[in-house]
Amino acid sequence: MPNDPEPADAQAPRPVRKCPICGKPALKEYRPFCSKRCADVDLQRWFTGSYAIPLSEDEGSSEDGDDQGGR
Ligand SMILES: [Zn+2]
Repeated sequence: MPNDPEPADAQAPRPVRKCPICGKPALKEYRPFCSKRCADVDLQRWFTGSYAIPLSEDEGSSEDGDDQGGR
C-alpha cells in the first residue's frame, strides 16, 4: 500500500467557516451558512429582531362585552 506523498492535514489549517445557525461546516454555495434553510433562519431572526413585530393583544374590542343591556 503506497503511502500518501502529501500530508493531508498539518499543512495549512484552513479556517473552515461554520454555520452560525447549526454549527456545521458552511457550504460555499450558502456561505456563511451550511444550507439555504439556515440562511433563511438567520434572515428571519434578523428580520424579526429588527422589526420586533408587536403582538396585538387587542383581542376583540370590548365595546359590548359584559356591558350588555346597560341602557
Ligand atoms: Zn446550518
